[in-house]
Amino acid sequence: MAAALTQITDSVHFAQTDLVNWTLITDGTGVMLIDAGFPGQRDDVLGSLGELGFGIDDVRAIVLTHAHIDHFGAAIWFAKTHGTPVYCHADEVGHAKREYLEQASPADIIPHIWQPRWLKWSLAISSKGGMVRDGIPTTQALTEDIAAKLPGAPMAIPSPGHTSGHCSFVVDGVLVSGDALVTGHPLLRHDGPQLLPGLFNHDQDGCVRSLAALGMLNTDVLLPGHGPVWRGPIREATEKAAT
Ligand SMILES: [Zn+2]
Repeated sequence: MAAALTQITDSVHFAQTDLVNWTLITDGTGVMLIDAGFPGQRDDVLGSLGELGFGIDDVRAIVLTHAHIDHFGAAIWFAKTHGTPVYCHADEVGHAKREYLEQASPADIIPHIWQPRWLKWSLAISSKGGMVRDGIPTTQALTEDIAAKLPGAPMAIPSPGHTSGHCSFVVDGVLVSGDALVTGHPLLRHDGPQLLPGLFNHDQDGCVRSLAALGMLNTDVLLPGHGPVWRGPIREATEKAAT
């Protein structure tokens, strides 16, 4: 199923799929992606670019909220095949290069797959390349200087916890929260602002602290890594997620 594309502001578009989301930010020089789906969602990513009139060579950069396979999968191909620059928080670069891995392993998942929703999700992500172990050796730290020159000049809001170098971004007044704050997931029973199940979070206390930091922002549109767009004062979302 193709990604559902929603225009959020003049320059920000949100691509939502059942499994994971990504965000496209445009300006006169091209387009920047924040996150890029599973490896097997490459065609969906290309489709979302195409819907906005962009091709592969218009992608100025891919900025990662974090280096989990569901968020940087297609970026592996962009970087390798097209030399697309890939950036993330300095503390996440080693993770993106796969010098280490902070991701739930099959051994963490298997005890849960007697539950139909876990089994269905495990099969779905496997078919999208969820077991791919490749890194992106060319990943660089997103400095303020680099960010200032990218479409939307993303403002980094470090939000460690889900991974050690997880980072959220504010672009054009919109918060792109990655997995620091989600609004739904195939494994969650209800939609609404919340944290992912604890086994996916490297540091649960860090997640809670990062929620508090996000809650101090002055934004009222939330584009999460999983689940639908959420509108309202961000503090309401972070308080809901913290309870
Ligand atoms: Zn995720």
